Amino acid sequence: MTSRRPAPRLPGIDPGRCTGCGRCVAACEPRVLSLVTGADWRKGAVLHDRAGCTGCSLCALRCPFDAIEMRRPAWD
Ligand code: SF4
Ligand code: SF4
Repeated sequence: MTSRRPAPRLPGIDPGRCTGCGRCVAACEPRVLSLVTGADWRKGAVLHDRAGCTGCSLCALRCPFDAIEMRRPAWD
């Protein structure tokens, strides 16, 4: 079994701009984005499965608040 290579670019979500509207979550076909409620009770989008992201950029295109930037993933 081979492990899947990560997409060349992954969504970086700016929590300061994200309003929690959920449009990116609805746009993501592999369902790797979700809305979470933070300690301050604000909702925000998070990428919960980096390996499952195809790097399609649909989430970034759909975000009305310009909160998602596609970035090269950092090595970790
Ligand atoms: S880039 Fe595509 S697959 Fe990845 S989180 Fe955004 S919509 Fe989903
Ligand atoms: S579409 Fe943009 S503002 Fe809405 S939840 Fe996603 S990142 Fe946040």
